[in-house]
Amino acid sequence: MSGIYVHIPFCKSKCTYCDFASYPKEIGKADLYFACLYKEIKSRAESLKGYVFDTVYFGGGTPSFVHEKYIIGALRQIKNFYTLSDDCEITLEVNPGTLSAEKVKAYKKIGVNRFSVGLQSADDGMLKRLNRIHNRQDFLLATDLLKGENLSVDVMIGLENQTENDVKATIDLAEQGGAKHISCYALKPEEGTPMFGKYLNGDLPSEDETADLYDFARKYLEEKGYHRYEVSNFAKDGFKSRHNLNYWNRGEYVGFGVAASSFIGERRFTNTEKIDEYTACILRGRVAEIFTENIEGDEREFEFIMLNLRKDEGFTFSEFTKRFNVDFTEKYKEKIKRVQKYIDVTSEGIKIKPEYIYVQNTIIIYFMD
Ligand code: SF4
Repeated sequence: MSGIYVHIPFCKSKCTYCDFASYPKEIGKADLYFACLYKEIKSRAESLKGYVFDTVYFGGGTPSFVHEKYIIGALRQIKNFYTLSDDCEITLEVNPGTLSAEKVKAYKKIGVNRFSVGLQSADDGMLKRLNRIHNRQDFLLATDLLKGENLSVDVMIGLENQTENDVKATIDLAEQGGAKHISCYALKPEEGTPMFGKYLNGDLPSEDETADLYDFARKYLEEKGYHRYEVSNFAKDGFKSRHNLNYWNRGEYVGFGVAASSFIGERRFTNTEKIDEYTACILRGRVAEIFTENIEGDEREFEFIMLNLRKDEGFTFSEFTKRFNVDFTEKYKEKIKRVQKYIDVTSEGIKIKPEYIYVQNTIIIYFMD
């Protein structure tokens, strides 16, 4: 399985915790950016002949902020130059406050069949402090436009003064909006963002408090029929994100646009985060990559273990042998012993015990040399 990612680096304003490649002041460059994006999409096609892509994901930034003509153009370009599977999952990230009936109609017409909505919190005061552009009413208006669609909703935990009741209210609102899938991420204040100051001041919940909020969210989501399948992702039956599963399965993907990463044929490469540098490279007929590495030897196995153990189902030994021609239980015998308290091992495969999934990072480390 393989996927396509397209990065849209424009937002209406900047959220206080965000260090993603999104540039509210650069929207005037949209025409040039998309012209270059289409060029990049075309230019990589030759090297990806023979691939059938099962997913396309428009992320950002806020893809629904830009005029729909740009998204239509990008998807047309992808369809012109790449082979997509018949039931290809095509996701578009949207933010409340940037959507309209015309946009939704246009997205659906071109083939978008899954929408991911950034809610984050049901508390208007909290949304304001995060500098989100929407309130809870905007969320309901947006989900009304998307009624009946395959909908994912983003929810945040670890927010300032957040209580279990706040988390409950946010999950309730996501469900009310029709979410079939909920991503529940812990706020990670990145250095250089306004929120980082709050983190340094100790205004945010501690790691333990956030872990408790996560635990509460996990149980509440489960009660509502959203089953966890990855550390931060929960879905009703039949609504797991195929695009993200491909990442955790260590499948191949190609990324277009600024800051987009690709993983093809054991080579991982990432485009520049700067719009001007990106467009200058593409206009000169060059690639915009600033980082590239070839993954070799045991590093491939470690990546596979690390990514697959994020999933509730872990991985099977036969999958491991198929990929690497290695007997996992034999090669990792000693390492398995060191973490046996945290994992379930059967004759078929290995997974982290459900109660330890949230701290999987500290367990996975043991599989490194
Ligand atoms: S909407 Fe998303 S990408 Fe844009 S600034 Fe906020 S968090 Fe960042």
